[in-house]
Amino acid sequence: MSLISVILPSYNEEENIHRAVERLSETLSREEVDWELVFVNDGSRDGTWQRITEEAKGNPHITGVSFSRNFGKEAAIMAGLATAKGDCCVVMDCDLQHPPETVVEMLHLWQQGYEVVEGVKRSRGRESRLHALLAGTFYRIMSSATRIDMSRASDFKLMDRKAVNALLSLPEKNAFFRALSSWVGFKTTSVEFDVREREAGTSKWSSRSLAAYAIRNITSFSSAPLQIVTFLGLIMLLLAVALSIQTLIRYFSGTAVEGFTTVILLILLIGSLLMISLGIIGYYLAQIYKELKGRPRYLISEVISGGTENPDGTK
Ligand code: UDP
Ligand code: MG
Repeated sequence: MSLISVILPSYNEEENIHRAVERLSETLSREEVDWELVFVNDGSRDGTWQRITEEAKGNPHITGVSFSRNFGKEAAIMAGLATAKGDCCVVMDCDLQHPPETVVEMLHLWQQGYEVVEGVKRSRGRESRLHALLAGTFYRIMSSATRIDMSRASDFKLMDRKAVNALLSLPEKNAFFRALSSWVGFKTTSVEFDVREREAGTSKWSSRSLAAYAIRNITSFSSAPLQIVTFLGLIMLLLAVALSIQTLIRYFSGTAVEGFTTVILLILLIGSLLMISLGIIGYYLAQIYKELKGRPRYLISEVISGGTENPDGTK
């Protein structure tokens, strides 16, 4: 019988662990498959890890991995994929915003031969206006920069072992799961799901952390911002040619004293464009620097599997 692994990144989700185990066990045990739940505790500050160990005690279906600190959701997903033993892996949020019934739908598609099943948001659930606006902008930029439509994409996906291994073999440390899972290719389909209300707790993303996430992922997946610098340079060159002609005509016709406003405006404009451009280049430089250091994506402090602890689960 094939084994399906469900990976649940968890950060300060103490109220949701038990519920997630209950709901997923109920749903998955009705199917003709073996299953395991892999909880990745992303350096939670509350009782999340205690809850995971409690659930794992004597339950062979549950594996827990605990990070030494908060490394972020992307790292948690990669750690879960690296730990999972399944013939296919499903990544889902442990706040149950991704409905367990959709996991079953994905599983059936996998059994029909699909290798990547993307969860696509039918509706975005309840979000503040500002959040929806920011998310919308981010995905528009991402979609045009990467040429992958991501406006309704989510981290809710099923991947076949082949695709998981391909993803795990990528050397980059700054992985953007949502885009990489379509980048690896394979026979892909999608299922729509409605984003549920969070069962408990609050969203772990502030507007600021979302903005940082957006910038990090755009730069990790696309060099388009660097091309914007070239593009701005070209526009400035055209402007420069036009103004030079005007200046020369004025000089030769003897009316060259005026135009101080133009000078001030040009200095301000060029100055800010140069600084923004340097900032963009600097950002990429920082990313290259980080990749070059080759630090691991995450550090594991503890692993628990069906009640047996393995303290030297370092990676
Ligand atoms: N999460 C994580 N590490 C983080 C932030 C979030 O593992 O640093 C997990 C979190 O526990 C949840 C999932 O990622 O299972 C989605 O987070 P959240 O529900 O806060 O995001 P939202 O649904 O609001 O986009
Ligand atoms: Mg959520």
